Amino acid sequence: MKKPFVTLEKAQELIREYPTPFHLYDEKGIRENARRLREAFSWNPGFKEYFAVKANANPFVLRILNEEGCGCDCSSMTELMLSEAVGITGSDVMFSSNDTPPEEFKKAAELGAYINLDDITQIPVVEKVLGSFPKTMCCRFNPGGIFQMSNGIMDNPGDAKYGMTRSQIAEAFRILMDKGVEQFGIHAFLASNTVTNEYYPKLASILFELAVELNKETGAHISFINLSGGIGIPYLPDQEPNDISVIGDGVHRCYDEILGKAGMGDVKIFTELGRYMLAPYGCLVTTAINEKHTYKEYIGVDACAVDLMRPAMYGAYHHITVLGKEDQPCDHMYDVTGSLCENNDKFAIDRMLPAIEQGDILVIHDTGGHGYSMGYNYNGKLRSAEILLREDGSAQLIRRAETPRDYFATFDCFDILRDMKYND
Ligand SMILES: *Cc1c(COP(=O)(O)O)cnc(C)c1O
Repeated sequence: MKKPFVTLEKAQELIREYPTPFHLYDEKGIRENARRLREAFSWNPGFKEYFAVKANANPFVLRILNEEGCGCDCSSMTELMLSEAVGITGSDVMFSSNDTPPEEFKKAAELGAYINLDDITQIPVVEKVLGSFPKTMCCRFNPGGIFQMSNGIMDNPGDAKYGMTRSQIAEAFRILMDKGVEQFGIHAFLASNTVTNEYYPKLASILFELAVELNKETGAHISFINLSGGIGIPYLPDQEPNDISVIGDGVHRCYDEILGKAGMGDVKIFTELGRYMLAPYGCLVTTAINEKHTYKEYIGVDACAVDLMRPAMYGAYHHITVLGKEDQPCDHMYDVTGSLCENNDKFAIDRMLPAIEQGDILVIHDTGGHGYSMGYNYNGKLRSAEILLREDGSAQLIRRAETPRDYFATFDCFDILRDMKYND
């Protein structure tokens, strides 16, 4: 059963200071999970996790992860700026972008980040903006076709916009070597939110074999393999979670069998996990503010899809706990809705929950990754606050809620809005 990391009493205490809705993060959970990941890959001396900033772009979160040995995986100018602001630079930054504006390569190079090229056509672009290449470059691979494992089709790389074909990546290595690049990385992301211990070892074996082949074909020295993101979490209460130590062991076995045998036992393993690092350690705290009894039973809450887009966008399941009613029978069927003028603004459809009254506090689970960071301002909705529950039990506001002033801030060109008296 899924249990929230916040109690009713603690939530009530927080709400007296910070009105709902807000995202709440669990520092202890974040740190312990990051340590488990490090332990699972400790067999590889060069191992490093580059946290996918897009999953949770809060500087306080980045700092906590950095203290646990993680770097940043950035994909845009502002993510690079954020990483720099937190003091995470140099080889602690991976720049894995696509459809990249040229000036972002420049910023990445200034930080000393690893540049992960999504496509062979980016080679002349990077050469033009940088003048020359860094000593180390990474290339993203896309094997095409359908990515299948024993438990069925995982994803469809042949349809994905990312990465280079097999012949392109070899060609890219040759061109880059010609231009003075000395060390190479290989990256691929073939399936998202995988809840199976087999995904990473399978992906790893594909990339390890590719590394051996590319080394033979081009003579390139491969210094790291970036397994990217994609390790998932159990959003559903009856799902078996991934076991990171089993995953680490699985990758280790493939490493010894493929790279070890080929005399390439010095390759570093990198990861770019986002969801796995943060999603379970965040939740969206919201209050039931309306009820409605028409063709269905509705509970309206004060959060909406701008705070958490996944249910509306992917039909994703997020577990809901009504605080203080954990032990009551789930004998009421509700649609739990937000207030957007969009019928897909529902956090749950036909969900069995305890009887909900106005004023009840609901916890929507697993919003620490791809939650707040996917937020937007549709319907003039304002982004919520983010609060960190520290290890000592205290709470820290790590991002305030937006106010109308923030919403109108970009209307500089309209005097009437610029001068509006929205002071809070
Ligand atoms: C989204 C993304 C990640 C993180 O994915 P998760 O599913 O959150 O682990 C890592 N690398 C790249 C290039 C991505 O686009």
